[in-house]
Amino acid sequence: MGLLAPLRQQQAQLPRPPKRLGKQSPRYRFLLNPYRDRRFAICPDCEGRTLLRKVPLVIHVDPLNPVVINKSCRYCPACDLLIAHQDEIEQQLAALFSKRAPEQIGNDYLVLGTLDRDVWKRGVAQPLAIQEMVEHLHDFVEVLELRPAGM
Ligand SMILES: [Zn+2]
Repeated sequence: MGLLAPLRQQQAQLPRPPKRLGKQSPRYRFLLNPYRDRRFAICPDCEGRTLLRKVPLVIHVDPLNPVVINKSCRYCPACDLLIAHQDEIEQQLAALFSKRAPEQIGNDYLVLGTLDRDVWKRGVAQPLAIQEMVEHLHDFVEVLELRPAGM
């Protein structure tokens, strides 16, 4: 058995396909890595070498702040697995919100999906409206979590 498990197993078992937020086709199986001491140069699923890939991630921050950060992730082409390190994401979010809305640093957040690079670049020059972000959002194919050791 591999190390990865679907994060929302019960939802995954529903007969209907999961509700999509983004209007674009889903991309990537996604893992948010909570461990600072694991950087996944090796894929946890197939044990092949992962690549570094910079990807614009769309993140919903409570209560109502979708933001996009261009994030270096680990990527396994064989598994189509994208791995983002939680501590790095939180660092980038804190840096972003320290200018914009410091009272919201540390709020709950959820990584929703990815944007194409050209859309992300447009958003840097002129922040995207929420509706526009949803138009261009690629949901994840699947969101995964690491099985606790020994399971
Ligand atoms: Zn792999």
